[in-house]
Amino acid sequence: MSAPRLEIHLERLRHNAQVLVERLGQQGIEVTGVSKATLGDTDIVRTWVAAGIGSIGESRIESIEALAASGVTVPMLLIRAPMLSQVERVVAHAAISCNSEPVVLEALARTAARQGVRHGVVLMVELGDLREGILAADLEAVAQLTLALPNLKLMGIGTNLGCQHGVAPDASNMAELSRLATALERRFLVHLPWCSGGNSANLPWLAAGGEPGRVNHLRLGEALLLGREPLGGTAIPGLHTDAITLVTEVIEAKTKPSHPWGQRRRTSFSSQRARPQAPGAHAGELRALVAVGEQDVDPAGLSPPEGVVIRGASSDHLVIGSCGTPPQVGDELRFGLSYSALLRAMTSPFVSRCLIHDRS
Ligand SMILES: *Cc1c(COP(=O)(O)O)cnc(C)c1O
Repeated sequence: MSAPRLEIHLERLRHNAQVLVERLGQQGIEVTGVSKATLGDTDIVRTWVAAGIGSIGESRIESIEALAASGVTVPMLLIRAPMLSQVERVVAHAAISCNSEPVVLEALARTAARQGVRHGVVLMVELGDLREGILAADLEAVAQLTLALPNLKLMGIGTNLGCQHGVAPDASNMAELSRLATALERRFLVHLPWCSGGNSANLPWLAAGGEPGRVNHLRLGEALLLGREPLGGTAIPGLHTDAITLVTEVIEAKTKPSHPWGQRRRTSFSSQRARPQAPGAHAGELRALVAVGEQDVDPAGLSPPEGVVIRGASSDHLVIGSCGTPPQVGDELRFGLSYSALLRAMTSPFVSRCLIHDRS
């Protein structure tokens, strides 16, 4: 089999989806499965849908179009605000989009009228992480505009925390979101189906006994794919963290001196400084070169197998030190992945995907 390859255990992904759908369902919370880190992988999305996920979230319209073309029929939610230049495609293929700009809402409404459809809108509210969202003070006006525009359906409000400044969902910002949802319903005498509390970063808040209040929807990617919450990187109890792993191949294995020699200057990937072995540990180290690099994966997000340390990476090479069984040329090494490592591996044309169906 070719390397590097992502091994995707569909049964483990199905398990993660089923557990989260059930667990959150008991708290009245519906799950949209966010497939963006997989570039909208159809097999993964089908597995999620079979496990009870009722809608799919994607950041790129291209992925939504591809999923629609492959026969996925659940509603699809564009979770990044639409580009004005892509409004036609968004209305044609996404049932719902997340929005924060009046000019885009007007364009969506005009386009939906032309296409003879109704487009769903979630208004994103800024609650402190400083990425997307309408400031709370402006929300009422934007909601009023949305309700007045023909061919738009206001599906609710949402927020996104954790992704830009690591702001954690907590009792205070989640209560604020609930309060805003109730205030809009009272002011405009409407029912908002969704109060979308956030992403995988919301799970620790709920697990610690957080009161959902009006929050009845989450958009989950990392928790479904990697069984982790992003803020602390901790595993979520009962979920598989190894549903997707990266298998790589060794192309050089030698004992080398622990320290580089010659005058040292910067490298092309200086931000990710290579870590030489601690001086004095022993004279030399068993090193191996693995045929995977920055072009395939985020090396900082790789978890090596037992007895292996990552010494550094460049475009096409990962340098490892080994204190376990000496690696041989041609050996395969399996790494765990962070979200950023997964995203880049899924994006690299050099990394293949291998689906595993069994329960092993
Ligand atoms: C990426 C993203 C998500 C999913 O985030 P995870 O941490 O993977 O659960 C949800 N909502 C928005 C708006 C996103 O951009």
